[in-house]
Amino acid sequence: MSSTQTDLTRILAQRIAASGPISVAEYMADALGHPEYGYYMADDPFGVSGDFITAPEISQMFGELVGLWCANTWLALGKPTPFVLAELGPGRGTLMADALRALETVPACRAAVQVHLVETSPHLRERQRQALSEIDLTWHDSVGGLPMIPAIFIANEFFDALPIEQYVRHDEGWRQRRVTYGEDGFAFTHAPTPEPEINLPTTAEAGAVIETSPASLEIAGEIAHRVRSHSGAALVIDYGYTGPAVGDTLQAVRNHDTAPVLEQPGTADLTAHVDFNALAAAAHAGGAACWGSIGQGDFLRRLGIDSRAATLIATATTDQKSNIETALERLIGDDQMGTLFKVLAIGSRGTEPPAGFVFKEANLS
Ligand code: SAH
Repeated sequence: MSSTQTDLTRILAQRIAASGPISVAEYMADALGHPEYGYYMADDPFGVSGDFITAPEISQMFGELVGLWCANTWLALGKPTPFVLAELGPGRGTLMADALRALETVPACRAAVQVHLVETSPHLRERQRQALSEIDLTWHDSVGGLPMIPAIFIANEFFDALPIEQYVRHDEGWRQRRVTYGEDGFAFTHAPTPEPEINLPTTAEAGAVIETSPASLEIAGEIAHRVRSHSGAALVIDYGYTGPAVGDTLQAVRNHDTAPVLEQPGTADLTAHVDFNALAAAAHAGGAACWGSIGQGDFLRRLGIDSRAATLIATATTDQKSNIETALERLIGDDQMGTLFKVLAIGSRGTEPPAGFVFKEANLS
């Protein structure tokens, strides 16, 4: 065991010994974001040698199309100048770099943009600084710090990293799932009494697990509030489902392999599937309109990924051609990221659907 994992295990074990079992959200928040030993604080988890590969790391086409979506949305918003382009959880900065390149196709938009990054990891902030060395950047710890002017938000694989709470069905109701620590290490347990006033389904089989992400809902609500008061839009891309649904989606990934969730916190990526209906409902309650969620495959196809791939292939070597084709399939294939990954747009009520969304506003009231 390395000293870091020992340290976070010790810190959490001491806390549990002093004040009792902690909630799943508390465990997840520290496993990922503990200021010294959290997974995102320690090292660069991205890329081929890291624990997972995200869409912008698969192909430049992803970030370019997101950039075109932003330019199109900016035009639809009436060309606010200046405006904030805010990325939540920018990772290595690849998506933003590709998006800004695509924004150059609309020079007035490129000239009006102020780039803001919401990122808690100092290590990843440094990666972002390097990837975007030509750009004026401002970092924030949370959405709350962003300037109050028109803003376009993008969030790819951000919400899946935010802490979730889990509830387990017992005969007498739902009990909060908690994490305890004993001789065999961390183990799940549950609250001694059921949740009194929790808005969860009243029927489910004993042992069923249901998830909520209060942190995600708060951020979706805050984005909606900003869109309503200062105009703007948001694009949320992640893997997830349209809830409510029963199921335990908390998973740990280390070196491309799934790992036990409670083993060596801080050394594996922990994620949970995003409930897109819950996010949309929170945004709607905050006064915004929502479109989707739709599959990532449909979204990228409607934005023209096939013709972008054809353009790149036209000047590619044989090797590059096959890489582009593989990347395209990974991004949009139904058995790959095309369906499990979903896209939700948030905007002002009463406006046209943003690019890629052919549906009317979701009516969630
Ligand atoms: N969007 C990137 C990276 C996704 S990983 C990509 O697609 O490649 C999740 C990102 O969110 C990381 O940059 C991580 O440091 C950041 N992050 C996680 N929790 C966060 C929080 N609570 N606030 C701000 N950033 C957070």
